[in-house]
Amino acid sequence: MAGEGVWPAIGIDLGTTYSCVAVWQNDRVEIIVNDQGNRTTPSYVAFTDKERLVGSAAKNQVARNPTNSVFDAKRLIGRRFSDSLVQNDLKLWPFKVIEGPADKPMIVVTYKGEEKQFAAEEISSMVIKYMREIAETYLGTTVRNAVITVPAYFNDSQRKATKDAGGIAGLNVMKIINEPTAAAIGYGLDKVDIGKRNVLIFDLGGGTTDVSLLTIDEGTFEVKAVAGDTHLGGEDFDNRMLKHFVEIFNRHHKEDISGNARALRRLRTACERAKRILSSTAETTIEVDSLYNGIDFSSSITRARFAELNMDLFRKSIELVEKCLTDAKMDKSGVHDVVLTGGSSRIPKVQELLQDLFDGKQLSKSINPDEAVAYGAAVQAAKMAGMGNEKVQHIVLLDVTPLSLGVSFGYEGHMSVVIPRNTAIPTKMEQNYTTIYDNQTSALFPIYEGERARVVDNNWLGEFTLSPIPAAPKGVANMKACFEIDANGILNVSAVEQTTGVSYKITITNYKGSLSTQEIHRIVQDAEKYEVEDNEHKKKVRAKEALEKYAFKMRNILNDKEIGEKLDADGKEKIEAAVKQVIHWLDGVQLLQHAEGDEFRDKLIELELICNPIIANIKNEDN
Ligand code: AMP
Repeated sequence: MAGEGVWPAIGIDLGTTYSCVAVWQNDRVEIIVNDQGNRTTPSYVAFTDKERLVGSAAKNQVARNPTNSVFDAKRLIGRRFSDSLVQNDLKLWPFKVIEGPADKPMIVVTYKGEEKQFAAEEISSMVIKYMREIAETYLGTTVRNAVITVPAYFNDSQRKATKDAGGIAGLNVMKIINEPTAAAIGYGLDKVDIGKRNVLIFDLGGGTTDVSLLTIDEGTFEVKAVAGDTHLGGEDFDNRMLKHFVEIFNRHHKEDISGNARALRRLRTACERAKRILSSTAETTIEVDSLYNGIDFSSSITRARFAELNMDLFRKSIELVEKCLTDAKMDKSGVHDVVLTGGSSRIPKVQELLQDLFDGKQLSKSINPDEAVAYGAAVQAAKMAGMGNEKVQHIVLLDVTPLSLGVSFGYEGHMSVVIPRNTAIPTKMEQNYTTIYDNQTSALFPIYEGERARVVDNNWLGEFTLSPIPAAPKGVANMKACFEIDANGILNVSAVEQTTGVSYKITITNYKGSLSTQEIHRIVQDAEKYEVEDNEHKKKVRAKEALEKYAFKMRNILNDKEIGEKLDADGKEKIEAAVKQVIHWLDGVQLLQHAEGDEFRDKLIELELICNPIIANIKNEDN
């Protein structure tokens, strides 16, 4: 803290629509108010002829200057321009976004009379810098260190881009932590001594939905599973209401306002306000003077109508809770507390659906949904900066990895998972591999993330070649691959050839061409849809592997001096011929689609029937 000779460390909740900053001070977390006296700040940046505005000042002038007022940078960060979600959002944003180099979306604005382009990271960095300044004004000192939060379902590219934004804002980002985990700290810090509790954090924000199931036990916050949608939140509900009123306006006034950015912006602001009011009253009105061509617009909407307009989206958020429970292998009756966070969790219909899912259980509203994430981030920042009380120092966060990680293996490139999704991080897991060709002297290790059985359907992260491998028949070499994810979610992969000790190691820090969240969702949804197909594929892979393994084992037995000598010429010849025939057949069906799973199984039985009695014979003779 200031004056103690230690740099203060702040926690920043970088929200899609609002951001919040907090710090550990005077033995507790303080949410820092901005220059307007508000505890949250709009995540807006605006460019005018004269200046650049951030926060409320930017949001307040949006109707006058819609094309140069930028918001929603979080919906763009770490994504590609061609991402279908970006393409959809483009249609709703009054500011211009174009395709930059390497498929990167670039925001185009006019600033001081000149056209300028900004990456989403730059816009986010301006918001982060503003939050940093709010903290510096409050603390009266320079702030260098921060913990920044991201949705649990953010992929590495989005995390890395957020970290970059912090760096651009001049901060040392000590850690990126997941929003629901931070909210859980906000919820659980004062409850560390009431025994083990399973807590479901339902975080419905402005742009994202995040569900996390954690076990809180004596200061250890262990995430059991996460599920989420980085493109489902309050803004989607605003859009539904906006569309509803655009239709009403067009119908009543026989005018089309859908192409007028300024009118849409003003109507959207009115919708957002009405949505908030509907969380506490059953009906409200929308009134916008001179909305379009001098026409004053006035209309009303009930809470029930608003719920109806959004029911599919509300249900989607509840399905994520069910998915999270399934992934954590926990029955809903095992959940002690269901905690609401994120501004949109105030919507009564959402609360009703959630309560129904938990058979009428009372939902916990004890934390402030707008501040809990920043609160938790500030606690983590204090811990990392060596500040805070004993409770803070004892906190341990155990997060999970949202997607499975593995290696492409075999001719067909099937996904050999090394670290399954929802595994606690940091983690280290190993898997053994062998060669697939005779006399293979090098092996390629392509690394992927995703849930599909074939790597072509997953996301490539990087690759390396292990070389040299001593020449030997296929299936003899023994290579151990080791995947290690550190506490920051950074993946290290190494492989070692066991007989020679030749090894190779790479760090996947920046997942180039990383997945969009839309793709992650498609992957997970596809994985469910294609589970049957994938299981078939896996079964076939296993049958083929079993046959190969057995054939190689028999060939190795023939080559083994000790055993080979004990085999009579006839037995040896029989095994040799049968193994040769099977390996020849296997070589011919290198591509899995050339054979059915049953064929591999039948061949294995045939081969076992020939070899097993002969081998059993020498064993009997030995006895
Ligand atoms: P967050 O990202 O957690 O700050 O959430 C902000 C979102 O919550 C925005 O979309 C707000 O419109 C929405 N929100 C805030 N208060 C309410 C409320 N009382 N009822 C419904 N939505 C709200």
